[in-house]
Amino acid sequence: MQNASILISGASIAGPALAYWLRRYGFSPTVVERAPAPRPGGYKVDLRGVAVDVIDRMGIGTQVRDRNTDVRGGTWLTGAGKAVATLGPDVIGFRDPGDLEILRGDLAEILYRATSGEVEYLFGDAITAIIQDVKGVRVTFEHAPPRTFDLVVGADGLHSGVRALSFGPESQFARQLGLSVAVFSVPNHLGLDRWEMVCTTAGRIANLYGLRPSADATAQFFFATPQRRPDRHDLRAQHRAVAEAFAGHGWEVPRLLAAMPTASDLYFDPLAQIRMPGWSNGRIALLGDAAYCPSPASGQGTSLAVVGAYVLAGELAAAHGDHRTAFPRFEQEMRPFVERNQELGRDAVKQMVPATRLRAWAQLAMMRMMPYMPGKARVIEKIMKPIREAANAITLKTYSTAPPLRPEEHSSA
Ligand SMILES: Cc1cc2nc3c(=O)[nH]c(=O)nc-3n(C[C@H](O)[C@H](O)[C@H](O)COP(=O)(O)OP(=O)(O)OC[C@H]3O[C@@H](n4cnc5c(N)ncnc54)[C@H](O)[C@@H]3O)c2cc1C
Repeated sequence: MQNASILISGASIAGPALAYWLRRYGFSPTVVERAPAPRPGGYKVDLRGVAVDVIDRMGIGTQVRDRNTDVRGGTWLTGAGKAVATLGPDVIGFRDPGDLEILRGDLAEILYRATSGEVEYLFGDAITAIIQDVKGVRVTFEHAPPRTFDLVVGADGLHSGVRALSFGPESQFARQLGLSVAVFSVPNHLGLDRWEMVCTTAGRIANLYGLRPSADATAQFFFATPQRRPDRHDLRAQHRAVAEAFAGHGWEVPRLLAAMPTASDLYFDPLAQIRMPGWSNGRIALLGDAAYCPSPASGQGTSLAVVGAYVLAGELAAAHGDHRTAFPRFEQEMRPFVERNQELGRDAVKQMVPATRLRAWAQLAMMRMMPYMPGKARVIEKIMKPIREAANAITLKTYSTAPPLRPEEHSSA
């Protein structure tokens, strides 16, 4: 049934990307998003390897490249704030030529604009109950009247509501990685212009980047998850946890911590992966972080969301909307790719924050030598190889020759 009605929960990356492809293949997607509008700004995310091909096949490659962060490099600092090395984008971002970096909110906005007018969006709402039978899925919402859809897809992130309603509690599937992250906007008082500052000490990293001197900068803190994890909805407890983890830290950290309580966009979460035995249950499927979050440490969550959307929509189109064929095929195509990238995330988290003072010292020494190191290219290649392999660990099928949704950008799919 090619014109099946498909409800997607979540309008960040996976949701609108799936809606795009479904609409292009003739399905009728509706997207419900808890936030009142597409959420702007946020932190930097990557598009690498095959994900860049998908973006180009969607015909939005030019728009994404126009908003590329173009980070020029960064400064590595001791805990006291002494600069030890100035590094180029090759070391700061570990990206191959052609890989892209963009603010999550910018990518979400591009995806939203590529689908608005073609796809029904319900902002400021959320699913409260899902009941499926052989004919369809009955969904009730916080605000909108109940409706029946042919299929439902949860693209609602690490703490997916669809997963909780249809697959079981998050604790069954979330694997904690031992670190937490706090990210928020701060005034760009250092005037950072496409520049990143990285300040590591044992057990914690404080990072500050700015893309334009005239715009806010982003402060990002990684640290060992406290014994008593603050509640996800308790902002004050989150502020306390970050302040305690960075107590006594030098450099700009006290100033950044002082700005945290007034930031309107604090994101705080322990780093976790979602590992599930299956991503579908009858007429309900999961996609992106909801199904297989690899954690921010992998730098691959956005790429997995975009590629997963392409594959899920493509398999539904190939099966003429028959979810009994399409959902298992989606999983068969994606699982090896996902597992490779989740492995990358687990390895990266071990290297990200030096656990001891000795390791922190060794990392600083390495960064200090890096610009002058005779074998620098070899060291970078050793780091890049597994990232590149994971980012390309799937061969994209061509599912259909349906024309792009927006005629203004040419697409090659
Ligand atoms: C600090 C940080 C740094 C990161 N760095 C990188 C990086 O460098 N590179 C990279 O590739 N990735 C990075 N990521 C990961 C990346 O942001 C995610 O993997 C990606 O956004 C996943 O997209 P998604 O659409 O699956 O989920 P999300 O982006 O989490 O979107 C889920 C959407 O669902 C909505 N929602 C949630 N619950 C409900 C509900 N009940 N009803 C309706 N809507 C709901 C949310 O509001 C949100 O809009 C980072 C993440 C964080 C937190």
